[in-house]
Amino acid sequence: MRPEDNPNWFAHSPIARLNNEKALDDIVAEKLSDPSSVMIPLWRGDPLVADGAAGFLSVAARTEFPADAPIVMLGMRGDKAVFAIDASRVAQSPDAAPFAELGAYTPIREAAAVISKDDLAIVGHGRWLFEWHRKHQFCANCGAPTEMKNGGAKRRCGACETEHFPRTDPVAIVLAIHDGACLLGRSPHFPPGFLSALAGFVEAAETPEEAARRELFEEAGVKLTDIRYQFSQPWPFPTSLMMGFIADAESRDLHLDTNEIVEARWIDRADIQAALAGAQLDFRVPPRFTIARQLLERWAGQE
Ligand SMILES: [Zn+2]
Repeated sequence: MRPEDNPNWFAHSPIARLNNEKALDDIVAEKLSDPSSVMIPLWRGDPLVADGAAGFLSVAARTEFPADAPIVMLGMRGDKAVFAIDASRVAQSPDAAPFAELGAYTPIREAAAVISKDDLAIVGHGRWLFEWHRKHQFCANCGAPTEMKNGGAKRRCGACETEHFPRTDPVAIVLAIHDGACLLGRSPHFPPGFLSALAGFVEAAETPEEAARRELFEEAGVKLTDIRYQFSQPWPFPTSLMMGFIADAESRDLHLDTNEIVEARWIDRADIQAALAGAQLDFRVPPRFTIARQLLERWAGQE
């Protein structure tokens, strides 16, 4: 697949990662003292947004944050190093966080409607790393405290020296189709009328295709025949990789597991096309920054 064939948001970051550099801790220290380096502040994963753009600051502004505020290096954007800094521990509310007066710390789903696709990919990367670091303060091998290394690219245990790297949780998300209609469902935490493609985590020792087949049967009683991989999306809620499929269903019979899906409907392509074009129907399609929306766009655009 060519990069341009993946339409997903949170993907295609303009950042070049520096994972192959040998002396990464030295590079991080050098870039932190270079005032041309930039950083994006996040409050609980939500970015500072100013004038319709992500609120990047010079790393020189780091002095306005406590010395122990977590900061990670994401990589290089052109000749500038890009960092993210966590304002969460500094302030109990986003309005009290440093530089809030420049704009607003904005819930990331709202920011996604405003800031550029490039900036959203960077913000998502920072959000993902902070969440992973927050949950990996202690070694999964021996229980001792771990320490951030390489500008946040890994953590190391001070006792047993095990290195821990950021993990990705794969999810299979499936647009099931049958004779000109697709299946959308609503999980209990979605508001009424908000429908999406069905999805589930890939379990231990399972392929994404097997997960797709299992989830659709468990949640909706739908048997999939042909399962076709489309594209993937990093999804920083908190650390998932969404793997998108379009798949043929054997029939339109539904047997819902109402703990997982409270409503599911087969919807004709014409109605999906109308909803994507902005028509007010009795259901809402997911926003553009979701892979479910991109699966719908792809299928609705096919003959
Ligand atoms: Zn350890």
